[in-house]
Amino acid sequence: MRELASIPLLTGHCRHPEMMTLRGGSLLPRSYPAVAMLLIHPLEGAILFDTGYDPAFLAATEPFPERFYRWVTPVTLDPQRSAAAQCAALGYPPQEVRHLVLSHFHADHIAGTHAFPNARIHCARAGLDEAHKGGRIAATRRGVLRALIPPDFTARASFFEDRPSFPLPSACAPFDRGADLLGDGSLLAVELPGHCPGHWGLVLNDARWGLHFLVADAAWSLDAIRRDVPPPALTSGLLGNTGRTRETLHRLHQLHRRNPDLRLTPCHCSERAAEIAGP
Ligand SMILES: [Zn+2]
Repeated sequence: MRELASIPLLTGHCRHPEMMTLRGGSLLPRSYPAVAMLLIHPLEGAILFDTGYDPAFLAATEPFPERFYRWVTPVTLDPQRSAAAQCAALGYPPQEVRHLVLSHFHADHIAGTHAFPNARIHCARAGLDEAHKGGRIAATRRGVLRALIPPDFTARASFFEDRPSFPLPSACAPFDRGADLLGDGSLLAVELPGHCPGHWGLVLNDARWGLHFLVADAAWSLDAIRRDVPPPALTSGLLGNTGRTRETLHRLHQLHRRNPDLRLTPCHCSERAAEIAGP
């Protein structure tokens, strides 16, 4: 696989009780960072995996019923730490970013989409379809804020489901195939069912870490993968499918047991966020 460089971007955080994300967890509120990943492809240039929080999230949660989202998971975001601002500071102007890969349509993963107007958007058709289902209250309850989906989104979209299937390196077992996003085998999207309809991760050959599996929200932490401890059914059932969430987590646990050196990065993992240098 072609090597890509990766630069994790910490784009703010929200707070909610640990017990919402980890069965048997504490009632005390904990901080959940939102980590986006800037990838540098030798030919395609800058590629962003998820956008994390963005000032657009605050604007989208001003009105009701969307404001409930902000009340349930209070968000802290410095506008200078949005993915777009950080890309620009690193020498990759957002308008020059050619590819945006969205793991799923929860607001804390797509809020910055508007800031990358020229990017092809790689995402799941199932996720986009789900995002457009039902009224605003139902969508907000599922973690979707439709105001964050730009009007030209569909015209720029390339769906995971339509990409050619490509074998994953054997080190990724029990995961065996991915969707080849760029046609060169360098970015392989892997469906990780359960968290919500149309939830996918991404496997790449990272110049620093070797094989790197960005698992998005298939787990809230590395600890949950190591111990195979899912979120409570209340949370997984509200957002998606409890049985599939547990099955996917168990497969990640198996992968970790077989190959503990393979790097896994959940989007909201405090352990991963702690590795990122502060401003
Ligand atoms: Zn999510």
